[in-house]
Amino acid sequence: MIQSINSIPAFDNKQQYSTIEAEVSAAVLELLASGRYIGGSVVASFEQQFAAYHGVSQCVTCNSGTDALYLALRALGIGSGDEVITTPFTFIATSEVVSAVGAKPVFVDIDATTYNLDLQQIAAAITPKTKAIIPVHLFGQPVDMTALMDLAKVHNLIVIEDCAQSTGASWAGQRVGSIGHIGCFSFYPTKNLGGCGDGGAITTNDPEIAAKLRVLKEHGSKNRYIHEEIGVNSRLDALQAAILQIKLRYLDSWNNQRRAIAQRYHQLLSQIPGIIPPQELTGGSGVWNQYTILVLSEGRNGSSAKHRDWVRDRLQEQGVSTMIYYPHPLHLQPVYQSLGYRAGQLPVAEQTCNEVLSLPMFPELSQQQQDQVIYALKDCLA
Ligand SMILES: *Cc1c(COP(=O)(O)O)cnc(C)c1O
Repeated sequence: MIQSINSIPAFDNKQQYSTIEAEVSAAVLELLASGRYIGGSVVASFEQQFAAYHGVSQCVTCNSGTDALYLALRALGIGSGDEVITTPFTFIATSEVVSAVGAKPVFVDIDATTYNLDLQQIAAAITPKTKAIIPVHLFGQPVDMTALMDLAKVHNLIVIEDCAQSTGASWAGQRVGSIGHIGCFSFYPTKNLGGCGDGGAITTNDPEIAAKLRVLKEHGSKNRYIHEEIGVNSRLDALQAAILQIKLRYLDSWNNQRRAIAQRYHQLLSQIPGIIPPQELTGGSGVWNQYTILVLSEGRNGSSAKHRDWVRDRLQEQGVSTMIYYPHPLHLQPVYQSLGYRAGQLPVAEQTCNEVLSLPMFPELSQQQQDQVIYALKDCLA
């Protein structure tokens, strides 16, 4: 086994921190000295800046991206007896919240090139019980929101954008999270705008929805100790808001660095057989939370992850860490057995789970590191 001198992580945020350390520590120390750790002006100003960045009138922060999605469904009154259409190829949080509010997730297969919901297949999944669609802008690649909003309008459905992996991305010149009825964001450390812990936010242009969200996230209470409904405790810590406020100013430049890295990956990978680099839709400007290739499985039938896993192990031996987002589609998860999906029912998502491999991607990834990734890939595939 050859162990390279430098190993390359799939994700690294230490380098980035070192570039903003002075600013962040000053803000953190100031916040600590202020004694105001929950709510307060820092959270309020972060919400204003996040709303302004997205060109929306409302931003409500919360404790996580999962809570953002949960609160969005609650604020829209989605619950028992309702159906929500979403993708089986995403992190569990997207559908988990649908189940958590008592509604039923309905999975629609994905498009083989974008890994996002196949919009052509949505109409067939709509029933009289369908209330909403949750598109996920997976890996930072925006869904065709023009087509999706047209479809939602025809069927009178609400659109909740899962923007957890796509902060800063846009479709047709508009930021994701500002196109649907509600946008849900995560500030988990690996996301494009990551905090130093958990955090989330919801964007909307509807002040009524925003007001409902604020009640729900504060124990169902508008006036202190008067509780109108069952809510939750979901707050963005002032400390996280102080940090995120600084990082928001760098978001566009970090996303541009990701775009440059993605362009270079596209070029370098085009010469390697047996893989398909990710493809962008015209109209979208993605932010590359992940750079995910397909490692084509032999014959491409029988759907096995063996070859991809073999490639991943060879890369690891050469010091190149990769990730598998996601190894199993949601419709076949044990927790959703009761929904009655069978293997083979959503074939594109199932095949994709067996072939995806996310290469190292973070704004500070150097050309030298990238060359090492390519070298290692060529070594096992060429
Ligand atoms: C990360 C993520 C979430 C959940 O965000 P948390 O802040 O971790 O709760 C939801 N959806 C997608 C697509 C994600 O990647």
